[in-house]
Parts: sequence; C-alpha cells; structure tokens
Amino acid sequence: MPELPDVEVYAQRLNALYAGRPLQQLRIKSVFLLRSAEVSPGALAGKRLRNVTRLGKRLVWAFDGSLYAVLHLMIAGRLHRKPPGAVLGSKQALAAWDFEDSSIVLTEAGSKRRASLYLVDDERLLEQFDRGGLEPLACSSEQFAQRMRLENRTLKRALTDPRLMSGIGNAYSDEMLHRAQLSPVKLTSSLTDEELERLHSSMQQTLIVWRDRLREAAADGFPEKVTAFHPQMAVHGRYGQPCPVCATKVQRIRHANNEVNYCPTCQTSGRLLADRALSRLLKGDWPKTLEELEELKQPKAVSPRGVSG
Ligand SMILES: [Zn+2]
Repeated sequence: MPELPDVEVYAQRLNALYAGRPLQQLRIKSVFLLRSAEVSPGALAGKRLRNVTRLGKRLVWAFDGSLYAVLHLMIAGRLHRKPPGAVLGSKQALAAWDFEDSSIVLTEAGSKRRASLYLVDDERLLEQFDRGGLEPLACSSEQFAQRMRLENRTLKRALTDPRLMSGIGNAYSDEMLHRAQLSPVKLTSSLTDEELERLHSSMQQTLIVWRDRLREAAADGFPEKVTAFHPQMAVHGRYGQPCPVCATKVQRIRHANNEVNYCPTCQTSGRLLADRALSRLLKGDWPKTLEELEELKQPKAVSPRGVSG
C-alpha cells in the first residue's frame, strides 16, 4: 500500500507537472472506483488544477471552482504517466486524468477493486477523509508520546492505525520499529519515555530517508515503480534474509493475510514470536489485514445534504 513517502512523491511530481494547468477531462472506466454521486466527473473538465496534496494515504486533487478529487490507492492502486489520451484498454486501467501533453492513468492490479475516488464540491467536505492521525513528520516527541499512550495497543497496530498516526502502513512501520530496536508486539502502555523518544526519532528518520530516496529516484519524471518492497529495506519483505545490522535472519509473524517482519536480535532480545501464541495476544488488536483497517474507516457518505455516496 502506498504510504506517506510514496504518496508525498506522487503529490510532488503531480504538482511539478500539472499544477496551474487545466484538466481536459477525467475519464472513469471502472464503475467501482467512483464512490460519490454528488459531483459528476464532467464537472472537472476544463478546470485548472490548483495543487495535489496528501491527506493520510490519500491524494487530494484541488481544482478551481472548489472541486476536489480524493483518491485512495489502497494496496494495489498505482498512477502512471502516459501519452495524451491514453487508451484505458486493460482490465487494470480504471481512470485517466487527461492533460494537454500527457495523461495520468490509475491502474489497480489483481481482481479486487478497492481503490476509491470521491468527488466533492466543498472544501469542508474534505474533513471526513481525515482520520485524525497525527502527522508523523510534523509532531513533536511529546505529542507523539501522548498519542501512543492514548490506547493500550501493540506498537505495530498503534503506528498503522490511521486514527492515531497518519500515512503509515505495513512496510514503513516494520522499518521504523527495526530502526528503533523495538518489538512490533510490545504494548504501548509498557513503553518508557526513552523508548518513545527513540521511536519518534526512528519514525521521522525512516520516513525522511525513504521520501528523499524515492524523490531522487523519480527525479524530474514520474514515480513508475511504487512498491512496498525495496532491496534496501532492513526487514520489511526480507524474511529469512540477514538483518543489515547484526546479520540474524529476519523473522516474520503471520496473522491472517498480513505479515510483519522483524529482527529477533535487534528487536525482541533474541526471542522468536510464535504465530500461535501471538494470535491470542493479538486477538482484538490486529486487523485480519491492514487493508481491512483502512476499509473499516472509509467514509460512508460525502454529502452535506445527507445523501450517501
Ligand atoms: Zn538485527
């Protein structure tokens, strides 16, 4: 799932390439994509794109006339820059934002249609897409500590809950916990002040390092290889491979469809976290999938007039 670093780089490149320019049209091919009914895609035709910003893991495209397109890529949604008028031929191509010299095409791999798009015509309606999570790069260590102690949760869950923290998912939470040398299943209530401070700074460093790395890779083009798996990651997606710090084999916790990676030497005092014992501990504190966690909180309606979308 594209997380803060990925979404920020998408927003940055979209701004560099298209801000201030008129959208010729928004073409939507998939009937599952558009989840709102109040504003028709035709309303955006000819409107100037003001800017694109990140809201949690969403991209908010702001157009003249107080029109907004709010896009959540979920796990498999990706954007691609194509020649103008790109044909939405493949099953995976769901929509296109057409500009004069190029089109941005939304694709979603796999057969599940989870990516969502809402069109709204009032800035105030953007509030309901804000889950309330703290901005990880803008919060102080005091704000972070207070937020982490709000509920007694496993660290993995607390970091990836969009109500608590904004824009963090499975990949970067694995990386920041490894950097902080903390167990993913440690409970937030048991954290010392020092550990919270360490986690805060690891969180920020991880996100900044990756945002800058991805920004550099996109250079003045468009990020075409957005993935949760990178060879330079320390533990995420690296089960069985050596930890870059201590060379211990990276371990995993599998819970339903969701996998967490960690280094036992760096993070759990050498202890292996057994899947079965964990299931008990995690019961009620682990979404079956992180995707489910996102979906549980999809807005139900986007209309101030009370019409569900
Ligand atoms: Zn290690």
